[in-house]
Amino acid sequence: MSCVIIMYEFKPIEGEILDAPYTRFLELCTEWLKDTRNGIPLELDSPLDCPVHKWVVANRAKCKNKTVPNTEKCPICGSYMCPDCGNHMVDVLSRVTGYLQVVSGWNVAKKQEFEDRKRYKVAGDMI
Ligand SMILES: [Zn+2]
Ligand SMILES: [Zn+2]
Repeated sequence: MSCVIIMYEFKPIEGEILDAPYTRFLELCTEWLKDTRNGIPLELDSPLDCPVHKWVVANRAKCKNKTVPNTEKCPICGSYMCPDCGNHMVDVLSRVTGYLQVVSGWNVAKKQEFEDRKRYKVAGDMI
């Protein structure tokens, strides 16, 4: 329910600021999050409801990436997104003992374990 209320509050300014450049849009969203939720990220049923993803869709932001070597979390909703274009329609793959797996299919405990993992840079490669 809180999600519905939050998105409703957001709507009046959404139309005006969707035209803003990406970095400015992120700034506005961050300010708005600070004002309305003390900077606590939105809790959304779907990452596709996130204003950042909506900006990507509205501006038809094209991304040259099919895969990226690193993930980034959206500062507004906490979902994984493409670090370059902000697209939230991403699956996070993790290599587990040689197999690639889609993280979204994992159970809660395993996801947490993935979150807790640290990445180390070894000879220029991310592992
Ligand atoms: Zn988001
Ligand atoms: Zn992208």
